[in-house]
Amino acid sequence: MLIVIKIMESLEKIINICLRRGIIFPTAEIYGSISGFYEFGEIGKRIKDKLIKIWKDFFVEENFVEIEGSIILPKDVLDASGHTKSFVDPITKCKKCQTIYRADNLIEEKLNIKVEGKSIEELNKIIKEKNIKCPKCGNELEDVREFNLMFKTSVGPLAKEEAYLRPETAQNIFISFKRIYKAYRKKLPFAIYQIGYSFRNEISPRQFLIRLRFFTQAEIEMFFNPENENCPIEKYLELEIPVLTREEQRKGSNEIKWFKIKDLIGNVIKSKWQAYFLAKEFIFFTQVLKLSKDRLRFRHVLEEETPFYSAGNFDLEYYFEGIGWKEIVGNAYRSDYDLSTHSKHSKEDLSIQEEKKFIPHVVEPSFGIERIILALFFENYREREWSYFSFPPYLSPYLVAVFPLVKKKEIIEKAEETYKKFKEIFGRDIIFDSSDSIGKLYARADEIGIPFAITIDYQTLKDNTFTIRYRDDKKQERVNFEESVKIIENSLKIDVDIKG
Ligand code: AMP
Repeated sequence: MLIVIKIMESLEKIINICLRRGIIFPTAEIYGSISGFYEFGEIGKRIKDKLIKIWKDFFVEENFVEIEGSIILPKDVLDASGHTKSFVDPITKCKKCQTIYRADNLIEEKLNIKVEGKSIEELNKIIKEKNIKCPKCGNELEDVREFNLMFKTSVGPLAKEEAYLRPETAQNIFISFKRIYKAYRKKLPFAIYQIGYSFRNEISPRQFLIRLRFFTQAEIEMFFNPENENCPIEKYLELEIPVLTREEQRKGSNEIKWFKIKDLIGNVIKSKWQAYFLAKEFIFFTQVLKLSKDRLRFRHVLEEETPFYSAGNFDLEYYFEGIGWKEIVGNAYRSDYDLSTHSKHSKEDLSIQEEKKFIPHVVEPSFGIERIILALFFENYREREWSYFSFPPYLSPYLVAVFPLVKKKEIIEKAEETYKKFKEIFGRDIIFDSSDSIGKLYARADEIGIPFAITIDYQTLKDNTFTIRYRDDKKQERVNFEESVKIIENSLKIDVDIKG
């Protein structure tokens, strides 16, 4: 219990910094806000933009094509994909106080069992048999029913055409497949990817960025021939990744086992491309984003939770202290389901003619950007006299802050001049601040994770040297401009060892 209290505090502390510094804050606050919706201020947006940039630098390869698609999709698309029928959660309502619950979550919390994938009838039966009542007022619950998570809208002045806000970015990719394949003269294997907003009318949005009603997905759809995958997996065969196997889950155990990629292929992983992305994800999260290895695991999704068209799903989960394991990347082997169903419904033949005529298979990694940002906040939150984020420099909202040691005219002028010199090299990644005492300026810079502070003092007026202060250990060194640029540039290098 003690641990829970202590740790719940860290989510609260993170939220406090986010609010105080305008990093991320609720939408429509002045109207009492709207749950599950958040705004990103300058600092939050910078972190998000940097994350997306390094995500692209790391994942996007020669044979990848980006699209930016419409966030509103016609009903036909979502009928074909199955979302109008099956993108549902089970809900139940208290007969007295009218509070609505997600039935599966309620059962899981009350009975500490897993019920994902169970039918409406099964959930109803459990609620009745185990006599589960409204946690708020203790009264009886209504029968469980399905609730579709999509936001419905209508198009045109007569509002005749039914449409939806997209629940995932993937569908734009499938419906654009034929044009991209032809116009960009692609050959399998190749990928189409998209980074953009998805919308889900979640029943109970909660835990800050974990369960939102609109969020950013970065999705890659890798198209390939299942009989000849042509996947450069060799380089990752020896890499070891942490897996929570189905067997362990069935035993109710949380024991993570480490497997070499080569031992998973053909065994629990049915596609080399899926193995390829799991390997790349593990390297990305541990070596680029620098999340702890022991807070990451690939959960092999149980059969009953796996969509019928999928040949296997692996969720990459991060352990959020005080909250638990949460999916940050979904990995699905979508087989030929999406292209086949869109072929059928649209009557456009989406098969391709290469060695033979066939419908390509698809492996999909689907990253939730906001959850990853929250993982970065959890991983890098530190406390000393004041709290701060120890982000890797390439993820920090600003790289360098330039400060005058004292508020003397000549020092401020020199600081402004130095700031301009840095700006020529590092652009908008530099800030200047002279609004407070130096101690407070350091604290404010640390709090949002700025890794370097340059302080201009009397000595600078004489010999152009200044101090560079390191956020993580607060140490300071006297350096000149060229030396400091070298130190800062070196901190931006990302070295990756593909053996893990
Ligand atoms: P899914 O399509 O449900 O597998 O989602 C893919 C990724 O999107 C997940 O791994 C999450 O990181 C993210 N995600 C899904 N639902 C939400 C949500 N309601 N709020 C924030 N992120 C989400």
